Amino acid sequence: MRIAIQGSHGSFSEAAARRRWPDLVAVPCRDVKDVVTAVREERADAGCLPIENSLIGSVTTTYDLLHEAFGDGTLQLTHEILHPVHHTIMAIPGAPLSGIRRVLSHPVALGQCRIWLAKHLPDAELVSAWDTAGSAEMVAQQKDPALAAIAARPAADAHGLAPLAERIEDDPTNQTRFLGFTRADTADAFRTPGAPRYKTSLIVLVDHKPGMLALTLQAFGARGVNLMALQSRPERSAPWTYRFYVDVEGAATDPRVAEALEEIEALAAKLIILGSYEAWTEGSRLSAPVPVPAHRVDKPAIPLVDRRRNPEGTEVHVRGLRFGGPDPILIAGPCSVESEAMIMETAVAVAQAGADMLRGGAYKPRTSPYDFQGLGVKGLRYLADARERTGLPVVTEVLSWEEVPVVAHFADMLQIGARNMQNFSLLRAASRSGKPVLLKRGPGATFEEWLMAAEYVLAEGNPNVVLCERGIRTFERATRHTLDLNAVALVRERTHLPVLVDPSHAAGLRSLVIPLSLAALAAGACGLIVEVHPDPDQALSDGAQSLDFEMFAELARKVGRAGRMGEAGETGRAVLSVANGG
Ligand code: PEP
Ligand code: MN
Repeated sequence: MRIAIQGSHGSFSEAAARRRWPDLVAVPCRDVKDVVTAVREERADAGCLPIENSLIGSVTTTYDLLHEAFGDGTLQLTHEILHPVHHTIMAIPGAPLSGIRRVLSHPVALGQCRIWLAKHLPDAELVSAWDTAGSAEMVAQQKDPALAAIAARPAADAHGLAPLAERIEDDPTNQTRFLGFTRADTADAFRTPGAPRYKTSLIVLVDHKPGMLALTLQAFGARGVNLMALQSRPERSAPWTYRFYVDVEGAATDPRVAEALEEIEALAAKLIILGSYEAWTEGSRLSAPVPVPAHRVDKPAIPLVDRRRNPEGTEVHVRGLRFGGPDPILIAGPCSVESEAMIMETAVAVAQAGADMLRGGAYKPRTSPYDFQGLGVKGLRYLADARERTGLPVVTEVLSWEEVPVVAHFADMLQIGARNMQNFSLLRAASRSGKPVLLKRGPGATFEEWLMAAEYVLAEGNPNVVLCERGIRTFERATRHTLDLNAVALVRERTHLPVLVDPSHAAGLRSLVIPLSLAALAAGACGLIVEVHPDPDQALSDGAQSLDFEMFAELARKVGRAGRMGEAGETGRAVLSVANGG
């Protein structure tokens, strides 16, 4: 295998290439441009380019070259190599370090030894050369005792030079990332088939408009595709505009990556796919692979929600809590997270009273745009802090597909609110997050529509859906909504999914919350989600239906959760045995 390398024999490019192709025949080239030419002209089968160093960052000439040379699609990246880089300073035998006046090396190598050079040779002139090994050769030829080169240790032996100091790089972890490439027509034969991890590199040019880069990156994020690197380079012919270089995890043929690329192709001014290659994992910090289930396009003979698929009923687990398991789950917390202190106080109180999980809205769907809209990400942070303090897992609403990644980052379970039950892009995005989904029924949605919304989440590959009946809109105006207990019992007949009841939003009145809760459990609900506020009359949303701490403790007692506090309620236990037996 002939591999074109930047620099002469003994260069770091050659050593890196040897890690991948131990028996290679090196084709030395003066600079990275010549490496490309050698491969194009078939003087080499593949080439190896330094792209980034862990100490000094990008090799910008290579980035620019990728744009110039790969834009026509005739070359493809096929490999990634990480190579540790240790530098040695060398001179002709007998030359003392104190006599060195000039130091030759590749500018990248000089940049990696700045600290040592400043300390030991503060007055020496630093001279850029084409490559490290080549500068060792020049020192050997000139036989000047005032001249030294910085190169890899073997270059000293190769040119009869004496090392003056070794491992002079600024940090011992110093390493360089190289990319291997070949002609597109031979690329498939070069690639490692069936590798455990791939990466794909691309260049995108986006229109100079607000949000275009974010939209491009969102195409990956929304599909659970991990971004590995992002680099910008100036567009020379248009000052202050930029090309973006993006590395993502996965091969271009992976369904999620392929879908994202298709979207970006339509969106971007220009997209160049540089190639997919096996990720070099040794010494790198790749995250654990994320299992990404594919979405279903074929219609199953039996819907995925259908009880026949799992007559025993499905359990959904959230941090050890079992929805649909032997015990009912009690979720409590405010309608909205109003402040750090308020959510902490509520979390501690409901945990003490026997709640299993904490609720609280950070993104609020409000009828009026002038009403409190929630604290957003700050609210999520406070919920996570409250989980830290109390151990209660957190469920919170996500309003739009764009916010799914951030909500999924903080929450243990994503709530799809009643108003969004048929927001299909949100359902898809929530499914893809991999987090369990609490799917509320829309106040105007039929039973079938509700199940089909759940079907969206399942079809997208996420099996962890808990349904939530929270009252529907009927002709009856005495209460906010009408709790449809028929639907709760029917869910258990028709689907294998667990169903939770939200008596707070159904009733809109706190006095009804306890009786509706007991009825819900009797009808077969796997648990309850109720609103609790330290001072309900001052609540920024849904105060009328929120329980205070005392009422919540009473509810917990009545549904048997107060066992934790040592005082079980007889009524609650009786109700529970009905619920569990059904
Ligand atoms: C809530 O849980 O605070 C909420 C807004 O619920 P729903 O979507 O059921 O109205
Ligand atoms: Mn509410």
